[in-house]
Amino acid sequence: MDVYGLIGNPVEHSLSPPMHEAGYEERGIDARYVTFEPDPDALATALDGAAALGVRGLNVTIPFKQDVLAHVDPDPLAERIGAVNTVDFGPVLDGDRASEPDESASTPRGYNTDAAGVQRAFTHHDVALAGADAVVVGAGGAGRAAAFALADAAADVHVANRTAAKAESLAAEVPGATGGGLDTLSAEVPAADVLVNATSVGMESDETPVPEELLHADMAVLDAVYTPIETRLLRAADAAGATTIDGAWMLLFQGVEAFEIWTDEPAPVEAMNAALRDRL
Ligand code: NAP
Repeated sequence: MDVYGLIGNPVEHSLSPPMHEAGYEERGIDARYVTFEPDPDALATALDGAAALGVRGLNVTIPFKQDVLAHVDPDPLAERIGAVNTVDFGPVLDGDRASEPDESASTPRGYNTDAAGVQRAFTHHDVALAGADAVVVGAGGAGRAAAFALADAAADVHVANRTAAKAESLAAEVPGATGGGLDTLSAEVPAADVLVNATSVGMESDETPVPEELLHADMAVLDAVYTPIETRLLRAADAAGATTIDGAWMLLFQGVEAFEIWTDEPAPVEAMNAALRDRL
C-alpha cells in the first residue's frame, strides 16, 4: 500500500484525505492519504522521516509552505512563487531527470500546484486566460500563486493588495504585471476579464474585498475562499451576471494536479470533486 499525506499545523479539518482517497478508489490504486502535524521546528526531520518510511508524496500547508523549499528540489514555478505545496518522494516517472547527477535524484521534488489550481479552475469553466486582463486581489501565498499562474497563461496581470508595497513588489517579479493598493481596483476591475480573490476576506465575515458596483457581466470571478463556499463576492458577481467559480474548484484542481504528479496518470476529477463537495 502506498502512503500519501498532508503536513501542516493544524491539519485536522483538511478536506484532502477524502478527496484523494476517492481518487485512489476510482483508479484502483492501493493507497491511503493521512495527515501529519509536526512541530513547526521539526520540518526537516519530518521530511527525512517520511522519505525513510517510503511515503510517496506529501502536500504541504501552513506554516511549512515556504520553509519546505530549502529541503526539496523545487520546479521553476515553485521557485518563482517561493512556496511548495506538493512534495514528490517517488521514483522519477517521466524520465526527465535521468541525465541529472545521482545526488539530486534522491532529493524529493517540490511543486506549487496552487498555481495549476487557479489555471485549471478557469479552464474547466471555459474561461480563456491568454490575452485576458486579470486582476488578482491579494499578495500573500495564494496571491503569488495566482499572479504567476495567470501570467504563465499569457494573461495581463494587475495585483491589488491592502498593503500596496507587497503588490508592487510581487508585480515586479511577475512578467508584465502591475501592482498597487486596493484603491486601484476602481480603475482595473471594470476592464477586467478575470478576477481572483486571493485574500482571506469573506471567510470570517460576510464582506467582499472588491466594491460590488465594479463587477460586471463580461468577467469571470474566482474566489479562493472556500469556507463559506458561497462568499459575498461570488453572490455579488453572480448578481452582476459574471461567471462565478468558487474556491472548491481551486482546491480540487490543486489536488488533481498533485495526484497526477504522484501517480503519473490522469486524475478522476469527477470522483474527487464529488468527495470534496460532499464534505463542504
Ligand atoms: P496569506 O498569505 O496570509 O495572505 C493573506 C492576504 O489577504 C494578504 O494579501 C492580505 O493583505 C489579505 N488580507 C487579509 N485580511 C485582509 C483585509 N481585512 N482586507 C484586505 N485584505 C486582507 O494567506 P493565503 O495563504 O494567501 O490565503 C488567502 C486565502 O486564500 C485564504 O482564505 C485561504 O484559505 C485561501 N486559499 C485557498 C486555496 C484553495 O485551494 N481554494 C489555496 C490557498 C489559499 P496584506 O498583505 O495587506 O496583509
